[in-house]
Amino acid sequence: MILAVFGGSFNPPHIGHLIAAKNAVIKTRPDKLLILPTNKPPHKALSEDEPGTEARTQMSKLCFAEIECAEVSDIEIMRGGTSYTVQTVKDLKEKYADAQILIFMGTDMLENFESWKSFEFILQNASIVAFQREDGEEAKIAGIADRLSEKYGAKIEMVLSKHRVVSSTKLRQLLKQRQGREFFPDAEYEYIISNRLYGAKPQLQFLREKAYAMLTPKRIPHVKGCEKEAVRLAKRYGADETEAAEAAILHDITKKLRLDEQLKLCEKYDIMTDALEIENEKLLHAKTGAGISSALFGVSNEVRSAINWHTTARADMSLLEKIIYMADYIEETRHFDEVEKLRSLAYEDLDKAMILGLQISIKEVEDKGHVVHQDTLAALKWFKGVIA
Ligand code: FE
Ligand code: FE
Repeated sequence: MILAVFGGSFNPPHIGHLIAAKNAVIKTRPDKLLILPTNKPPHKALSEDEPGTEARTQMSKLCFAEIECAEVSDIEIMRGGTSYTVQTVKDLKEKYADAQILIFMGTDMLENFESWKSFEFILQNASIVAFQREDGEEAKIAGIADRLSEKYGAKIEMVLSKHRVVSSTKLRQLLKQRQGREFFPDAEYEYIISNRLYGAKPQLQFLREKAYAMLTPKRIPHVKGCEKEAVRLAKRYGADETEAAEAAILHDITKKLRLDEQLKLCEKYDIMTDALEIENEKLLHAKTGAGISSALFGVSNEVRSAINWHTTARADMSLLEKIIYMADYIEETRHFDEVEKLRSLAYEDLDKAMILGLQISIKEVEDKGHVVHQDTLAALKWFKGVIA
């Protein structure tokens, strides 16, 4: 059998790795491609925000999923210590006695290959498949390959791999700045975002796509309006505009679910509820929306809390909580008697606007003969104290 191996710190693995591996698989047709996240790479220190071997393994599974013969293996991780390729080759020869071993690697690895531990043993027992990028270095790399072949009998094959070159270091920076989505397969990007690996923050367009898919079509204009309003209010009051956008985009993601479906989510995600909420999906959607936003999209505690309180409000509200409550109330698709008054008040004095909003809301609930939630009453009392 032909056994190809592709090792790396994969911190994180990205589209460049995937395309290179795909091209190499097409050219060399291995029976199996083992993806080997290193435990500790010998040639570089892992970054400080390295998310750990488990997360790198999981990202690798998601990144290389579309290559049929690929399988992520934890042999280097389980072996512990520094990951030397020579030991991996020895282990693989033992496990796959008849295998012809191909080692996939970037051409940058080829350049310092003679500094690898027991590199001659590696060359005697495996062939090298080097990803050749179109970067003007072709001649230089070919020269290195020729020299290794002549000197050590190395079997080296070049595979041309056209892709946008980006380093993992750069990607980690991009992720923190709500960028870089295009460098990952979707499932991997979702995993990175839901766990906020590397301090990643989601591209807002990604969140919009995910959130809108969870809404009824008629609610989408409301959520779009809410995002616009929340960003405007955040700007007016000096809150983080992208955090406000995140909360607004996600605030109603469970709204279309029936009460029993929402209660199931409460159980699954350990969402705390009270007596009034468990019989009222209108109230409950704020709690489940907050829980799901945290589980699926890894939102910060501030954003989670803003979603959590967007329906009832509460005493002692944070700025972001007020902004989301108010944006939900006054966004451009809302129509009710005092909406214009509330809109202008929201930009003059947010606390006074909260009082008016709460009063309108309480009256509406009472007119319908429903019980007003205690948190809403507590909120009104608190805001009255604040402005007094
Ligand atoms: Fe809502
Ligand atoms: Fe809403």
